[in-house]
Amino acid sequence: MSAPPIIDTHCHLDSQYHPEGCDAALARAKEAGVVGFVAIGVGADLGAARNAIAVASRRDDTWAVVGIHPHDAISGTEATLDALERLARSPRVVAVGEIGLDFHYMHSPKEEQERVFREGIRLAKRLAKPIVIHTREAPGDTLRILEEEGAREVGGVIHCFSEDRPFAVRALDMGFDLSFSGIVTFKSARAVQDVAGWAPSDRILVETDSPYLAPIPLRGKINEPAHVVHTAKRVAELRNISLEDLCLLTTDNARRRFGLKSDPSRAPSTL
Ligand SMILES: [Zn+2]
Ligand SMILES: [Zn+2]
Repeated sequence: MSAPPIIDTHCHLDSQYHPEGCDAALARAKEAGVVGFVAIGVGADLGAARNAIAVASRRDDTWAVVGIHPHDAISGTEATLDALERLARSPRVVAVGEIGLDFHYMHSPKEEQERVFREGIRLAKRLAKPIVIHTREAPGDTLRILEEEGAREVGGVIHCFSEDRPFAVRALDMGFDLSFSGIVTFKSARAVQDVAGWAPSDRILVETDSPYLAPIPLRGKINEPAHVVHTAKRVAELRNISLEDLCLLTTDNARRRFGLKSDPSRAPSTL
């Protein structure tokens, strides 16, 4: 039989990574069994957000998530946030993100990151859409802001989960699912592997975060949605279940979390 169905819940399909369009990469992914794609559109000028919506509008197996990445928080002026809100209202946009805090690179000052993160949570609540969280070296502040802003009202996903079990417990309690990327295949990622093996079956997702973070055995290469299968294999191993069962449950979780439905007026698809 063919490979089990799987959804890449976080990929970047911007034209800067796919100058000839992303269709060839998505076709390779489909051959590998990937039946759905959640395309993240973030970037200082909202060009990537528009691109993600455009791809999601012409393909019935792709949905968009738009936001202002913490790296670009400095670009989050009132006018940009207004424009983002208009984009985020698109029916093809299934969540607001990725938003959050990144105190590793500090491409934007902390205060700006926090301000734009809060604005993103408020936007998601106004639109009643879930949130996709990016958090790096800021676990306490991320959880505090989610709590203070009442993010549990909409919940969402901690993308590229790279924290530990205590963080996971608090995130799950606030209504955030945990999405595992290629990091879970890295030998050194013990805490992440612990969480991937332990987290409740109905609260886990898999993603590539392509073009970043290629999983083992492809580490160092340019990542693409087809490679989510390697991450799924590792998570299945850690949970002592078959790859097929892992794919079925994470696909189910992704569809429920993001409300993924094919538009019956479009060409038929596998979803
Ligand atoms: Zn991220
Ligand atoms: Zn990302």
